Amino acid sequence: MKAIYIHIPFCNHICTYCDFYKMVAKEELKKKYIDYLIKEIEMKKEYLSDIETIYIGGGTPSSLSLNLLEQLFQTLAKYISLENIQEFTFEANPNDVTIELANLLKKYQVNRISLGVQSLNRRILKILGRKHNKKSVYQAIRILKSVELTNINADLMYGIGNERFRIIKKDIRRLINQKVTHLSAYSLIIEEKTIIGRQLALGKFKPMDPAKEARIYRKICSFLTKNNFIHYEISNFCHSGYQSKHNLIYWNNLNYLGVGAGASFYIDNIRYTNIMNLQEYFNGIDKQELNYLETTKLTDEERMSEEMILGLRKLEGVKKESFQAKFGIDIYQKYPFLSDLISKNLIIDDNVFLKVPTDKLYLINEVLVNFI
Ligand code: SF4
Repeated sequence: MKAIYIHIPFCNHICTYCDFYKMVAKEELKKKYIDYLIKEIEMKKEYLSDIETIYIGGGTPSSLSLNLLEQLFQTLAKYISLENIQEFTFEANPNDVTIELANLLKKYQVNRISLGVQSLNRRILKILGRKHNKKSVYQAIRILKSVELTNINADLMYGIGNERFRIIKKDIRRLINQKVTHLSAYSLIIEEKTIIGRQLALGKFKPMDPAKEARIYRKICSFLTKNNFIHYEISNFCHSGYQSKHNLIYWNNLNYLGVGAGASFYIDNIRYTNIMNLQEYFNGIDKQELNYLETTKLTDEERMSEEMILGLRKLEGVKKESFQAKFGIDIYQKYPFLSDLISKNLIIDDNVFLKVPTDKLYLINEVLVNFI
């Protein structure tokens, strides 16, 4: 097991578009959660000896107090040699970044920060229900750099209402000037049970036209690559050497461990999702038998399908030889329709990899649907 994901389901406030498992909670509940999270880590300690990447996400991990975070880090340090970890990512809300938090992260060998920026534009931030502003993002980056936490990702969101590309371009330029090493750009997906979803149902929110959204996506890709960012996954861009090692484990369809309510993990062809209910999560740990939202044993057919769907998200694509070695079947024999996709220029075969051409990435769903 090379990777562990740790889920912190708490936020200081709820954003209008958010469909993740999260809640606003009192300190008492957060404390109880960390106690149980530590117990779950201990239940899984035999998996931890070879861990190379750690990702603490949420929710908002930075909404925990320093005291609770330190308890969590101490437990990780007990079972994992943190000094040997290749990548240790911590997700933070820009408003939560203080020098005390930065020092604590540094002390426990965190070496990558993912900031939930989404936008630097006041109007867009208001639509998204985010409480930070441009200044607080700059200040967070300054504090992180002051303790030499320089590997910083900024999450950005596009496709919001009638937003123009020039707004996003301005944000990207500002973040480049702040010397972030990594940018993730995701389009707004409107989910029914969110605040924006309800506004949409009432006719109070106008979604972006998909053709316009695709144009913006292509412009983002081109602007970032012109600015020396490597486009390595459909929504992810970085400076050379700063690809997210942890996320590549997901996209390479490898095993990873997960802990925390709502966390997913993948072990020996079974996908697990921990229960998304705190009381049931606590009960499971008390019984030393975790409660799951779902466990799915993948058939060979499903494993191959996931290999293609996840692998084609990477610009490098799927290595033909690795597919054959993993599944014992030639990729063209398994998916004869690949030749048709190649003739339509939706897939390229460069002799080693099969990949979606960069100028067709906006059509990736048309490609992936074939593998379902
Ligand atoms: S988007 Fe992030 S910060 Fe906002 S509610 Fe969801 S998990 Fe919390």
